[in-house]
Amino acid sequence: MSKVLVIGAGGVSSVAVHKMAANASIFSHISLASRTLSKCDAIAASVKDRHGVDIDTFEIDAEEIPAMVRLIKQIEPALVVNLALPYQDLPIMDACLETGVDYLDTANYEPKDEAKFEYHWQWAYQDQFKDAGIMALLGSGFDPGVTSVFTSYLKKHHFERIDTLDIMDCNGGDHGQAFATNFNPEINIREITAPARRWENGDWVETPALTIKQEFDFAEVGKRNMYLMYHEEIESLKTHLPEIRRIRFWMTFGDEYIKHLDVLQAVGMTRIDPVMYEGKEIVPLQFLKAVLPEPASLGETTKGKTNIGCIATGVGKDGKEKTLYINNICDHEAAYAETGNQAVSYTTGVPAMIGSALMLTGKWKGDGVFNMEQFDPDPFMKMLSEHGLPWQIKELEGPLEF
Ligand code: NDP
Repeated sequence: MSKVLVIGAGGVSSVAVHKMAANASIFSHISLASRTLSKCDAIAASVKDRHGVDIDTFEIDAEEIPAMVRLIKQIEPALVVNLALPYQDLPIMDACLETGVDYLDTANYEPKDEAKFEYHWQWAYQDQFKDAGIMALLGSGFDPGVTSVFTSYLKKHHFERIDTLDIMDCNGGDHGQAFATNFNPEINIREITAPARRWENGDWVETPALTIKQEFDFAEVGKRNMYLMYHEEIESLKTHLPEIRRIRFWMTFGDEYIKHLDVLQAVGMTRIDPVMYEGKEIVPLQFLKAVLPEPASLGETTKGKTNIGCIATGVGKDGKEKTLYINNICDHEAAYAETGNQAVSYTTGVPAMIGSALMLTGKWKGDGVFNMEQFDPDPFMKMLSEHGLPWQIKELEGPLEF
């Protein structure tokens, strides 16, 4: 029985809060705070409708540390769940430190003026969190999050040693729009247009964004082009599982998406440095976000499935080389029917709820700052199957040929 304070009221937050309300024996009281109060109220109304649970709502700018501290002191939660944007990670962690409350998020900190996805800013809080006797759990979404736990589960139960790991994120959903992103457009486009980096033989190998492409046949979706990208779990997995010689991350994009992105980039609309417009500074990517569809609005029209998982090759527990594929397939329409949100929000919000539940029940505990793969994967994997994200493991005939 624990109180939780959720920050942010987008698609991911909406799913997590619905799932928390459905598990009232763990989440005894939910408070929801975000920049726009009406979005919190809309989630609260849907939760009341679907689960009969009342949640409190508040308006907050999470970058204002004193205001965050006041809110945490007023609510006295056992855990602050940050489902706002990566820019707010550090101020919310500062407020947690000041109030002595545990912290969880789904995406690593990024400075606004630089599209850099690195854990060092948050890992730097390790000693302070340890000394304060509180815990931070970083990256409790799908990727990072479930993909990190998939990897530690494979290591715990199937491999003596993992040599190579390919994380493959396929969204086979169609929302019927010419161009839209499935989570926050600003964060999404910053990530996709950054150079691709993979971990190989003890070093980073960098290639220009979206230049390495591979076709792959995803179960229940079909053949899709996936592109090599950098993703933050590569950094934490290579740190906590240093035996893995090569870690790559792939994400699928349709030709239409790539065509629109190319044009937007070519004309400067994805820039994150300010430009002058009618005597006022604006950031082109933030302006673009304002004219693109809200990811939370895509749920109603999105059809199809996501298929996200990991392919690992290494030495099995029996001493023989093997390649295993572990993945989850999630249906956009089923996710929408259950929570009013599409599958990308669903596959992130459910693991955010599960990470929170494991912290609140003390199944995952510790003082300091942790990534997902540092804990016992078993209780997390059990809850994934129980709460809407079933997974399967299949042995492949051999390693990937690319
Ligand atoms: P949205 O843009 O839909 O929602 C973000 C919410 O944060 C909005 O309600 C926004 O308020 C609020 N917010 C923004 N700035 C502030 C602030 N200063 N103070 C308080 N609230 C603020 O994003 P998503 O729901 O799609 O994504 C949420 C998070 O999940 C992001 O960090 C994203 O990177 C992460 N994510 C992680 C994934 C994973 O697998 N690990 C996958 C997908 C997303 P307003 O409504 O006023 O704009």
